[in-house]
Amino acid sequence: KKPIIYLIGARGAGKTTLGKPLSHALLYDFIDTDARVTQQCQMSIAELVERSGWDCFRELESDVLRQVSQPQHLVSTGGGIVMAPENRAFMQSTGWVVYLRATAEVLAERLSHTPQAHQRPSLTGKCIVGEMAEVLQKREPLYLECADIVVDATRPIPELIDHICNRIHTAA
Ligand code: ADP
Ligand code: MG
Repeated sequence: KKPIIYLIGARGAGKTTLGKPLSHALLYDFIDTDARVTQQCQMSIAELVERSGWDCFRELESDVLRQVSQPQHLVSTGGGIVMAPENRAFMQSTGWVVYLRATAEVLAERLSHTPQAHQRPSLTGKCIVGEMAEVLQKREPLYLECADIVVDATRPIPELIDHICNRIHTAA
């Protein structure tokens, strides 16, 4: 596979927290698709969704995914990127896809501690554990289908880095 890594998983799974040091370990550039969308449309994702809807956000996100898919890039993706079959196929064919797997309880617990870092319009209007459970029920099969490597998102970051680097280097 080409030297591109995609981190997938729900909000709060640790894509940013793991992605930054993992990109350093591999000497890759770290890219966050949400940050790129925000940069390109000059507004927060909450604002964008409120003004133009989720479909508009998903379209911009898909465009950004294709722009940033360059060798030696580590791409931290939005939690819903796997909803589009084209995005799953694209990531699969262009790089390594790493799924950071966590339960709804773990995700909800993490998000409750960092609300400001995860400001997003609620997808369902439910309490946070219920919302994450519902989101995972829809997306978990897609994350698993798309992933080359599945990791337990509750393991310490240095262990995750070792594990992923080993998997990629032994396969290369
Ligand atoms: P994402 O980018 O996937 O939305 P973040 O990287 O922002 O998730 O992480 C969400 C929260 O979970 C942060 O507070 C972070 O410190 C914590 N976290 C992430 N990964 C781990 C981990 N492996 N162990 C413990 N806490 C973690
Ligand atoms: Mg993030």
